[in-house]
Amino acid sequence: MYDAEGFDDGPPCPACGHAPTRRYAYVEGFDEHECPACGWRSDEAAIADLRRAAGDLLEGDAEAAPPPLGRPLRA
Ligand SMILES: [Zn+2]
Repeated sequence: MYDAEGFDDGPPCPACGHAPTRRYAYVEGFDEHECPACGWRSDEAAIADLRRAAGDLLEGDAEAAPPPLGRPLRA
């Protein structure tokens, strides 16, 4: 779960020069910046890692706990 507050006071985008970028201040104590013009992000690699890890976890859970498909309940 992300809990970040966004501010429009980030540094100029290094990719396209748009300013300001969107700054997300996470309660965990770090900032991330995202460019609303070109989609650049300050920490894209870390975000990709987080998403991949989350996806692995979800896939793992699904494989470990298949839905209980038994007889359909009928009256
Ligand atoms: Zn940009």
